[in-house]
Amino acid sequence: MRRNRHTKIVATLGPASSGADTLSKLFRAGADVFRLNFSHGTHQDHLARIQAIRNLERQLDRPIGILADLQGPKLRVGRFAEGRVRLEAGAEFTLDLDRDAPGDASRVCLPHPEIFEALAPGLELLLDDGKIRLEVVSRSSAQAVTRVVTGGPLSDRKGVNLPGAVVPLSALTAKDREDLAFAVEHGADWIALSFVQRANDIREVRALAGEHVKIVAKLEKPAAIYDLDAIIGEADAVMVARGDLGVEMPAEQVPAIQKRIVRACRRAGKPVIVATQMLESMIVSPTPTRAEASDVATAVYDGADAVMLSAESASGEYPVEAVRMMDRIIARTEADPYYREVIDASRAGVDTSLAGAIGLAARSVCDLLGAKALVAYTSSGYSAVRMSRERPATAILGMTPDAHTARRLALVWGVHAVIVHEIDSVTEMTDFACSTAVTHELAGAGDVLVISAGMPFRTPGTTNLMRIASIP
Ligand code: PGA
Ligand code: MN
Repeated sequence: MRRNRHTKIVATLGPASSGADTLSKLFRAGADVFRLNFSHGTHQDHLARIQAIRNLERQLDRPIGILADLQGPKLRVGRFAEGRVRLEAGAEFTLDLDRDAPGDASRVCLPHPEIFEALAPGLELLLDDGKIRLEVVSRSSAQAVTRVVTGGPLSDRKGVNLPGAVVPLSALTAKDREDLAFAVEHGADWIALSFVQRANDIREVRALAGEHVKIVAKLEKPAAIYDLDAIIGEADAVMVARGDLGVEMPAEQVPAIQKRIVRACRRAGKPVIVATQMLESMIVSPTPTRAEASDVATAVYDGADAVMLSAESASGEYPVEAVRMMDRIIARTEADPYYREVIDASRAGVDTSLAGAIGLAARSVCDLLGAKALVAYTSSGYSAVRMSRERPATAILGMTPDAHTARRLALVWGVHAVIVHEIDSVTEMTDFACSTAVTHELAGAGDVLVISAGMPFRTPGTTNLMRIASIP
């Protein structure tokens, strides 16, 4: 089974999409990677999903990516005596540490002692996805008095965003640490970190989880945007998390930031996912709005590696239809002659590493000879990612002996990953590339392939070889 598009689809799983049957339909409709959202559900729920995905993988003999998304240090208010209150503009409202006293219209608990230090007078707090705004008037180490700028209803456990501050919180909460250990133990291919604020957050997680864990930095805080290049440099992949980003920053800034992040990731050769509200209306409707179709297409024209569905596939009424719609929008957009023009015009500049040189050369040879596929024989996936960085018009065949690498490559633009046995010689690699390209319908007899690899084999990160082959 091969996709007729380069841009990948990430589909979030949830109550609407967990049975083996729905999962299989989602994959067939076009989902390349499944996201497990650890903000919701129990470990048991997630384990059942992981097992169902791995079963499906065996049935279809295709690698499928699993992205475990950790909730991160999301701040929330406590509970109210009546479940909800109404805040009036101009009124005073106090946040404190009293967990035992249920809230009312004058106060509520904000059970995060660490953050009171950061609540300087004048700082703005956004509650319930920005629907309510408070401004800090004064604070001590145990409470903050605020004035309500924008009022409205506020109910139990609603989220709190602090766009103006670097919050002095660790990148991982106690819950995140448990979820991380669980996800790694059960073979998640990517770990997504929410509310990354600094490059050091990623180093912290790496130190905890080990170098083999591949990290997606979710960019949803202004602080992360200021430190963009350092964070992209440290992360293995990036998500433009427009849900929280659009709360923490004015909505009108999100499009430009999205483009800036995608461009920076393409330059760095790091996979980038555009996420949230892409087909939002399909949560309740079988068709998207024109604006949503256009939003998906924009991410595709920008050259993002993947686009993502959240509630559309996790809890909506039309999960399979949403994936199918995304698949169709992507395929149609990539078939537009203007798409190739934009992708080439926005190609990332040359990079002078060995792998960069091979990637560039391979793409040029591919264009010159009209090759049918670029092949990367890769253990870590690095060679395939470098090929992908060049955004070629042909398919990229990622051949790897490592099942984890194949699954991770499911997220990467244009890469069709295939698990192969360990290969010991260039001749064997060439023969195998030719036969695999044929069986996977990427090329036929007489077609040319451009193959890249690293010698000696089994040494990750040594892309240094390019081979041109004709399929016999
Ligand atoms: P979330 O992240 O769905 O986990 O909040 C994505 C976003 O904020 O856009
Ligand atoms: Mn988020």
